[in-house]
Amino acid sequence: MKLPSLREEVLEANLELVRRGLVIDTFGNASGISRNEGLVVIKPSGVAYDRMRPADMVITDLEGRIIEGTLRPSSDLPTHLALYRAFEQIGGVAHTHSRSATAWAQAGRPIPCLGTTHADYFHGPIPVTPSLRPAEITTDYELNTGHAIVRTLKGALAGKDPLAMPAVLVAGHAPFCWGSSAARAAHIAWILEEVAQMAYASLVINSNAAPLADELRDKHFQRKHGPAAYYGQKAGS
Ligand SMILES: [Zn+2]
Repeated sequence: MKLPSLREEVLEANLELVRRGLVIDTFGNASGISRNEGLVVIKPSGVAYDRMRPADMVITDLEGRIIEGTLRPSSDLPTHLALYRAFEQIGGVAHTHSRSATAWAQAGRPIPCLGTTHADYFHGPIPVTPSLRPAEITTDYELNTGHAIVRTLKGALAGKDPLAMPAVLVAGHAPFCWGSSAARAAHIAWILEEVAQMAYASLVINSNAAPLADELRDKHFQRKHGPAAYYGQKAGS
């Protein structure tokens, strides 16, 4: 069996989304990529979580051809692949319909960066895609969803690393999240839900709540990410 440890990690990331309450029914999926092999491991479609095993994960190449597995891959596979093809820094993708983040997606509103919890993970407002056009929905819907995320993300990043903005809301749908690994993508999905809930509550309390000052936003993002990061323990210490 190919990629046994990545199969384990992707299964675990999918189970983590369920444990965190981010995925109910079948509204979600996570995947991971081996860049060395150019192969993606993703959750199978329509298998109960309590019966899912590493061997059930489906392995495809970056064009979606099944390399190993007897089950059908998650129907959102083309969206995941579009992200992996566009950004080589991405090692894992997680998609959920978690309630608060999905509420922002359905409202068609980016999540403003109102506090340091947000800025620790997302370097600015979390963007939302434009609505897909009818032709984009009729044909290659999941691939076009991926293209919409990639276009929106490139616009929001303005040259920054895609891991500086590890989520995009798909208008009328829900969030897609990513990270350096499948585990990290699942973690981001959890933090995103918390940040979405906080932003919602803040705006209910004060509809004029202002975005964080640029200096504070940058301080919080950069102390956890990038060359000058100092938050937490140094590797090996
Ligand atoms: Zn979905």
